Amino acid sequence: MNERFTYDINRGRVLFGAGMLDTIGEEVERLGARRALVLSTPAQRGDAARLATQLGARAAGTFCEATMHTPVDVTLKAMTAYEAANADCVIAFGGGSTIGLGKAIAWRNDAPQIVVATTYAGSEVTPILGQTENGLKTTVRDPKILPEVVIYDPLLTLELPVAMSVTSGLNAMAHAVEAVYARDRNPISTLMAIEGVRALRDALRVIVNEPRNIAARSAALYGSWLCGTVLGTVGMALHHKLCHTLGGSFDLPPAETHAIVLPHSAAYNADAARRELKPLADLFGGEIGEGLYDFAASLGAPLALKNFGLNESQLDHAADLAAKNPYWNPRPIDRGAIRELLQRAWEGVRPERRTSVEAPA
Ligand code: NAD
Repeated sequence: MNERFTYDINRGRVLFGAGMLDTIGEEVERLGARRALVLSTPAQRGDAARLATQLGARAAGTFCEATMHTPVDVTLKAMTAYEAANADCVIAFGGGSTIGLGKAIAWRNDAPQIVVATTYAGSEVTPILGQTENGLKTTVRDPKILPEVVIYDPLLTLELPVAMSVTSGLNAMAHAVEAVYARDRNPISTLMAIEGVRALRDALRVIVNEPRNIAARSAALYGSWLCGTVLGTVGMALHHKLCHTLGGSFDLPPAETHAIVLPHSAAYNADAARRELKPLADLFGGEIGEGLYDFAASLGAPLALKNFGLNESQLDHAADLAAKNPYWNPRPIDRGAIRELLQRAWEGVRPERRTSVEAPA
């Protein structure tokens, strides 16, 4: 091996396995904290309340208004609750939306964070926060944002609906697909990306038929941990930019958007990053875009953006936004080709095999 690379390891403690939630009280103490504010979405309010009961005197209360895209007004409300409850740490119980709220609080007041991850989106292991204000989504990266402790307990994911399991699993895979061609990749991030996709591929195939299969739920969390880790380690490109634009500017649901766009963004980069993508393409039958599309279809994943409130007339604007502020991508950003990509993702048709090579091999 004659590569040169830099590898920055994000600190963080991970507790993994069935029943691990039972250790959470000790983790609060280990952080030197005494009163945890438990965060959740309205849908997971019951879980948050049970966790607060489990924590007893170590709980400062619950705040159950987490919502997607981390709106700043919700964060400010949660901070008022945090101060009123005299809390000294946060526990985010849920997926990326709740984790985003915990991160938004910690970024502002440096509260220690414990995350109990219940989806596969991967946010719990990144120092990245996406938040929205006045319809604009911005992203910040700061070591303060990285949660100190993550608990992966597959027993908490047995009720994650199959549809959400599939879309959040594909969302995690998207991090890994972009990680293998990232300019700042290294052999370890590539290893984790490939293993993360393999684990999720195998696990999701089981989960769609047996959602309560603990081994498959465990493997899916393992895969999402690896995929989330590479998201936190190396830079992302076209796929994340597109999903960020579609989510932030057109209010599309994040996990579904990732799931739908991924085969198309991968196909866009397939030739330009053929060597880097090969180990992943091989996991899906040889062609990355088509393979991911067929895999998503076989799981019953959503395939068309038109079913999520995006009008065809908005595609031009979306393409303009995605081509604005040029950023690095293995294949140069071509507004016309992005517009075609969006059309296919909107209609839900299989990506077209691309034969031209726009970037040096
Ligand atoms: P989510 O957190 O929005 O959850 C979707 C719904 O599923 C919510 O109602 C939630 O309460 C419910 N849910 C979660 N876990 C459940 C379970 N085990 N059982 C039953 N219901 C459950 O969805 P998500 O896909 O995890 O997160 C998406 C958000 O995360 C987006 O805003 C995205 O931008 C963000 N994200 C951020 C990063 C990052 O590094 N900053 C990484 C990935 C995703």
